[in-house]
Amino acid sequence: MARIGVYGGTFNPPHLGHILAAREFQKNLGLDLVLFIPAALPPHKVLPPDTPDAQIRLALLKLAVEDLPFVQVDDLELHREGPDYSVDTLRELKRRYPNDKLFLCMGTDMFLSFETWHKAKEICSLAEIAMAQRQSDDPVALHAQARAICQKFGTTPVIISNEFLEVSSTTVRRMLILGGAQAYLPEKVLHEIRNRGLYGTDRNRKNLPFDQLKQESLALHNEKRIPHVIGCSATAVELAKKFGADPVDAARAGILHDVTKALVGVDQLHLCSEYGIIISDFERENTKLLHSVTGGAVAKHVFGESDAVSQAIWWHTSGKANMTTLEKIIYVADYMEPNRDFPGVEKLRRLAYTDLDAALLLGLEMTQDHLKNQGAPMGKNSIDAIAFLKQKKG
Ligand code: ATP
Repeated sequence: MARIGVYGGTFNPPHLGHILAAREFQKNLGLDLVLFIPAALPPHKVLPPDTPDAQIRLALLKLAVEDLPFVQVDDLELHREGPDYSVDTLRELKRRYPNDKLFLCMGTDMFLSFETWHKAKEICSLAEIAMAQRQSDDPVALHAQARAICQKFGTTPVIISNEFLEVSSTTVRRMLILGGAQAYLPEKVLHEIRNRGLYGTDRNRKNLPFDQLKQESLALHNEKRIPHVIGCSATAVELAKKFGADPVDAARAGILHDVTKALVGVDQLHLCSEYGIIISDFERENTKLLHSVTGGAVAKHVFGESDAVSQAIWWHTSGKANMTTLEKIIYVADYMEPNRDFPGVEKLRRLAYTDLDAALLLGLEMTQDHLKNQGAPMGKNSIDAIAFLKQKKG
């Protein structure tokens, strides 16, 4: 009796996280074969922009697993009419392999929603459930879910814990545009994507008209951040008109200021090496500060923005001594745009339209207080900015 892993997903695109997971499933479950089964992405599902058609994803997946002798790619879901249910796939595989043992392999996101799957009970009768636990996953939640599945469906899922890569296809798609995707893609897959210009890699994003810049850059965000980014851009334009900066630069810097923010710390580090950004020990330990410098680099190298715009983005989180008017505007606009809601924001808004330096100083000092309350240190650039503004004020 062979042991067969069934690993389904959209693989849009396939990445090293999938490969590593397949290796671990194979090793830990003693699998003779792992079947990768790309989903058809049925028409009712909202597809991310630039998703290639199923045959192209299939070709990418075949390239990705080429060197894994225990893997086969199976396109059975791509031929099916109607909704794409795992239970149908498992029924079909059971017909094909009646005497073998099937393991349905999945990551955390799939596992945590398992009981909502169509005919989950039947799935459990056809295959054992196996899941890849990443280090960042909450083990309590996973084990509670394993117990719930056991109680409801009478089967105990196997949880394999390992240093699985903290990456998803969504992140890889973003990094194909922002930079650093080579960290997560098999070389041949990256080459094929670039060769065919997939996932928007063929588009020139330099010097776009504002509406296009907005559309291209907002596509790189997590949905919930979009109102903030739009608010920041509009506020920056108002402040630019008031204080004599270029409103066009202000709008562009505002819309791009958080363009890399959806990437987590380790991916910020990948971007830093992509753009040759040398970072301090403080920044390495506080990677959430890095989105502003990587944002500045992306504004320049991906979107072809001017140094003025790129620098305004670069300094929007820390500030520094002797900032330009545009740099101050982006810092303050980010702090006070209409979606911000915290004690003191009204005072900041009032001040921003009368005295930009005073508003900047207030923002920096509020950050300093917040960090102090959290017992966290403040970076040198911010301390310099405060000292500079105080001295200027006399
Ligand atoms: P996204 O959801 O952003 O499209 P994904 O890579 O999570 O990306 P799928 O291609 O559908 O999406 O993933 C296929 C299967 O691999 C799913 O069961 C998913 O939970 C699992 N998986 C995805 N990424 C990882 C990873 N880094 N480590 C382990 N398992 C993963």
